[in-house]
Amino acid sequence: MTFGETRTMSRDQALTKIEKYFQSGDFESDLNHRIAFKTESNLPNCDAALNSYLENNLSPYLQELDFTCTIHSNPCVGAGPFLVAHRYEGDDLPTVMTYGHGDVVAGYDDKWDNKMSPWEITKVGNRWYGRGTADNKGQHTINLASLKAVLETRGQLGFNVIVLIETGEERGSPGLREFCATNKNLFNADVFIASDGPRISPEKPTIFMGSRGVLNFTMRLKSHEGAHHSGNWGGLLTNPGVVMAHALASMIDRNGKILVEGWRNTTLPNSVRAAIAKLKVDGGENSPNINPNWGEPDMTLEERVFGSNTFEVRAFETGNPQFPANAIPSSAVAFGHLRYVVGTQTEQLIPMLRAHLDRHGFEDIVITSDRDMMHATRLDPNHPWVLWAVRSLTHTAGADIAVMPNLGGSLPNDVFSEVLGLPTIWIPHSYASCSQHAPNEHILETISQSALKLMTGLWWDLGAGETP
Ligand SMILES: [Zn+2]
Repeated sequence: MTFGETRTMSRDQALTKIEKYFQSGDFESDLNHRIAFKTESNLPNCDAALNSYLENNLSPYLQELDFTCTIHSNPCVGAGPFLVAHRYEGDDLPTVMTYGHGDVVAGYDDKWDNKMSPWEITKVGNRWYGRGTADNKGQHTINLASLKAVLETRGQLGFNVIVLIETGEERGSPGLREFCATNKNLFNADVFIASDGPRISPEKPTIFMGSRGVLNFTMRLKSHEGAHHSGNWGGLLTNPGVVMAHALASMIDRNGKILVEGWRNTTLPNSVRAAIAKLKVDGGENSPNINPNWGEPDMTLEERVFGSNTFEVRAFETGNPQFPANAIPSSAVAFGHLRYVVGTQTEQLIPMLRAHLDRHGFEDIVITSDRDMMHATRLDPNHPWVLWAVRSLTHTAGADIAVMPNLGGSLPNDVFSEVLGLPTIWIPHSYASCSQHAPNEHILETISQSALKLMTGLWWDLGAGETP
């Protein structure tokens, strides 16, 4: 037997071990313990649960695998703590940083079908219901269990690991950027590999390397004090709702094409275009009908959602829609939203809108930018770490996987890619119709079973000595 064959056998042994972990019910039981922690970070008084999740569940689990665990308080007052865990094997070995979030959104306890509790797993066919099954406890449970299977099979990992678990992701990750920026020495890694979000379709193993950025802003126009009788004043006063509608119409056309100068981004690197060309948008059951004529005209559907900037009116109000009066409203407000890709001049987005409105005679509309932007990130699909990960996942899956240059949605990925300077690879274990953030959140049993194997194979290969 050659050395190569021995190694193949051991990889297979690790995959068999993780399959047993799933079949024996141990995966369900590990996840069930984690789901039971009511770590609802968007509700008040969640501190005890957030701390307890890190201190009484994840730390002991990782300590058993010889991790050194430290719980750090959040530099942002009132926000939940971070767990940082290190496992070191040697200076000459690669170091991977992985990440997850222990917090979930509110359970909405009475709103689940069939009186299911959000705080324990209920299995119905292929679906495992419970708050956090998909977002994100199920996903980090899969990744850590796979790490354990490799360690137990090989006796060592063959690489160093840094685990970061935050407990505020569902509140917009307060303090994450500052914590990573001031503690860069804790996160000296070669590559970042983590799991969150959906696969492109349930059956298709997927990786993505960044996300679109998001800019939220508000446009307000006040024309006069108070509403005025339209019989006495109509024809004499400006209607701010009409002016706002024209302003919006100047920003985007009837078919969703952006008209603000500088806001479109239609240049895609060839490697990104080639990767997107292999993707097929599929939301799974119950997804809405796609309008093939909406958005950036000369792009494919997939290029529009993964490779272009998209503008949405999130809400728009003038007067009182609940009780429409026969009056000219005093003001109008529109809540706008731009998702944007790498290459967009982010600092210029608001100044470009200001210039656009002024040029079109809408000087009176006041623009405010609502909150911190989540920046766009993307790693080249031909980056050596991406090629390495694709090779490993394809080997385990025995079929092609989907490679998304970036997610259509947004993540705090710029903290890892920009602040820590790491190549970032995300391997999602959920799917688009998982009801995360709503009642009836669930994971699919079939995806979990496949994901445990994919991650075990990946961790195995990371320690096998053929990394970039
Ligand atoms: Zn979430």
